[in-house]
Amino acid sequence: MNRVKYFIDNIASIIKGKWLVHHDNAPIEQLLIDSRKLIFPQTSLFFALKGPRRDGHTFIPQLYEKGVRNFIVSEAMDVTHLADANILQVNDPLQALQNLVAWHRKQFSLPVIGITGSNGKTIVKEWLNQLLEEKYTIIRSPKSYNSQIGVPLSVWPLNEQHELAIFEAGISQPGEMEQLQKIIQPTIGIFTNIGEAHSEGFVNLRQKVNEKLQLFKQVETLIYCQDDPEINSGVAAVWQLMSNSKRFTIFSWSMVTEATLQIRQVYKEGGKTTITASYQQEEISIVIPFIDNASVENAIHCWCVLLHLQIPQPAIALQMQQLGPVAMRLELKKGINNCSIINDSYSADLSSFTIALDFLSQQQQHAKKTVILSDILQSGRSEKDLYAEVGRLLQQRQVNRLIGIGERISHHQHIFQTAGIPEVVFYSSVDAFIKELNHLLFKDETILLKGARIFELEQIDRLLQQKVHQTVLEIDLTAVAHNLKQFQQLLNPSTRLMAMVKAFSYGSGSYEIANALQFHRVDYLAVAYADEGVELRKAGINLPIMVMNPDESTFDVLVQYSLEPDLYSPGILLLFEDFVKKQGIQQFPVHIELETGMNRLGFSMADLPVVLNALRTPFFKVQSVFTHLASSEDPQHDAYTDQQGELYMQMVAQLQAAVNYKFIRHVVNTAGIIRHPKWHLDMVRLGIGIYGGDSSGEGGLDLREVSTLKSTIAQIKNLKEGETVSYGRKGVVTRDTRIATVRIGYADGYPRSLGHGAGKMMVNGHLAPVIGTVCMDMTMIDITNISHVQEGDEVIVFGSALPVKQVAHWAQTIPYELLAGISQRVKRVYFEE
Ligand SMILES: *Cc1c(COP(=O)(O)O)cnc(C)c1O
Repeated sequence: MNRVKYFIDNIASIIKGKWLVHHDNAPIEQLLIDSRKLIFPQTSLFFALKGPRRDGHTFIPQLYEKGVRNFIVSEAMDVTHLADANILQVNDPLQALQNLVAWHRKQFSLPVIGITGSNGKTIVKEWLNQLLEEKYTIIRSPKSYNSQIGVPLSVWPLNEQHELAIFEAGISQPGEMEQLQKIIQPTIGIFTNIGEAHSEGFVNLRQKVNEKLQLFKQVETLIYCQDDPEINSGVAAVWQLMSNSKRFTIFSWSMVTEATLQIRQVYKEGGKTTITASYQQEEISIVIPFIDNASVENAIHCWCVLLHLQIPQPAIALQMQQLGPVAMRLELKKGINNCSIINDSYSADLSSFTIALDFLSQQQQHAKKTVILSDILQSGRSEKDLYAEVGRLLQQRQVNRLIGIGERISHHQHIFQTAGIPEVVFYSSVDAFIKELNHLLFKDETILLKGARIFELEQIDRLLQQKVHQTVLEIDLTAVAHNLKQFQQLLNPSTRLMAMVKAFSYGSGSYEIANALQFHRVDYLAVAYADEGVELRKAGINLPIMVMNPDESTFDVLVQYSLEPDLYSPGILLLFEDFVKKQGIQQFPVHIELETGMNRLGFSMADLPVVLNALRTPFFKVQSVFTHLASSEDPQHDAYTDQQGELYMQMVAQLQAAVNYKFIRHVVNTAGIIRHPKWHLDMVRLGIGIYGGDSSGEGGLDLREVSTLKSTIAQIKNLKEGETVSYGRKGVVTRDTRIATVRIGYADGYPRSLGHGAGKMMVNGHLAPVIGTVCMDMTMIDITNISHVQEGDEVIVFGSALPVKQVAHWAQTIPYELLAGISQRVKRVYFEE
């Protein structure tokens, strides 16, 4: 295969690096940014990037340990133990990464579609791929890799075999697009649309439009909708600048005025939309299997591209009818026999397969991992080469079982048989697999379903899923990571973070959340009771875990599972001391809680001598000493908060004087992190903030709702004025009323206090008040004013469009209680965007 090959020496000259160590002229194939994503140590080049909290340089020793020998750094460093490595120093490793890939891009001339805009980038990209994959060998950005780092990583695999490239570009601040333009060098541009200005760090819309237009500096064709005045005048200005370039053409579309493609009619019926337009004096139309406005807009952008590429209109019309949904996220669900299932059955290509495999290997809950994989279509490589790479990926990720589905992958099964994967089986089709399903065992394992859309692996997904009633709590793990980052940015780099995952992570699940937090490198976890900690350990969580409420009956479990008790009173301390003494244990890690004004748990000043005595014994190692604030969220009590802090410091001074090592000091919870930076000390305890709650009430942080509670409509009824709804006949209807019975009740954690109009649920984007009392398993809502509601439709109980805070307010409680009260019978579904 004729791929552009790189060696570290020519990379050195492309990025103008200075050698700190030069051992050999090593071949380079992979660019590595995130040390957790290492797969091929020998041929990876690691770029030590610096973030607000993490510095890539700190991972160099452990990468070296794993066999990585090629590094791009920005700091002078001690290289005595790295003599057989190649280390290049540059001013800015991110810039070096971008320059290298821009250089790589220049080696190819092919049509490259560059997409930017506020919404729809990923859908347009994926749809173009669906529409064009039979005609071209395509490379495209995986998922929504569109950032300063994502774009270079997307473009790097470009090779001679590719006939068309589709990359998306997203920016968060002025100045970024210029870089992305150099890396993508699009020949065809698509500007999808423009959202609000402030959302992306721009002063006004015009500035944002102009910045985005930078991507199209050198395109030959620009595709856009004329109907947005900001975009339109921005484009007009570019047009002026470029008008001396003969090669620049505009392909516009419009719903209202004359344009290259002028939309005449958009007609929605029966789940389909017919779009009619005039193009080159002819009337043409397409039908798409979607009815929402965003899909219509996205489809028209794709239509323009296809017309521009001179695909015949009848072929376009045929393809458009078959557009499929795009999986924007990876979902993790509970399956049969205690399995977990990741369904990513909308596409199969090497990059998205690698991402899905990464997600699979982050899951620690089961030791066994199975991959069900279809043929991979159109990779731009020979099949032998392709499946050899797939085999290596599977082996590197320690997948225990591969189930291959399709003629092509089956044909190459010998590659996998020798690739060191313990168990491999192959089926020519999904049907053949389903016939054999009864003979295959799926139990206590994580299963990744990955396949091209035409294979319809979702049939397998349905068979492997656990069947439960239709109320689910969806948990957005990307939002968890996002929220965590918002709080990390408020901390000094040296301040540690303890994540509170008590009460099933505030109702959001247990090990799945802890697993995500562990992956994003929090320092500590805390649970309320020992059994919660045991669950986490059984699921492979190896972070230190503090147990806030240990009791005597669980001491053995604490020791067995390396859980660290919070000793909060003389009574519990002496009991635990006695226990470890009898077990012959020394230096057992413990935490000391001090009472400073919450009046819940903790040693008071008067109790301190007991602690001091215990610290002089060899039985304990004090990991941390902490106290809990009673009112960190309330400005009215700030003086009290400071008083708590000062009392704490006095007590800490006494304890610190008694031991000859340093322990961690921590005081603040979520609201305290936001409102009391002076009490951050050595560590903070983040709780509700992880789940999107700003308990300070001050706002200002960009937090995302993590949980969405959804249910479905079981039945719809039309009632006449005077009829009554639910128990006790308290819901009297005062006009002809249409009601829907929703599959959620107080047994699911939907509070009874939301009955009789106090609470509302969201149906089709509209609020529907609860009517009558809330029952154990069902609740009725009034949908008289909402059109197009059908039985089976989804109902949002809370989520980003209807914040949990609002619902808690209606129920006269706080988000904490509502979230933690969602019952365990409600199925949890986790996803990453
Ligand atoms: C629950 C808890 C926290 C977290 O509080 P949030 O308000 O959810 O951040 C912190 N510390 C202790 C001791 C807790 O019990």
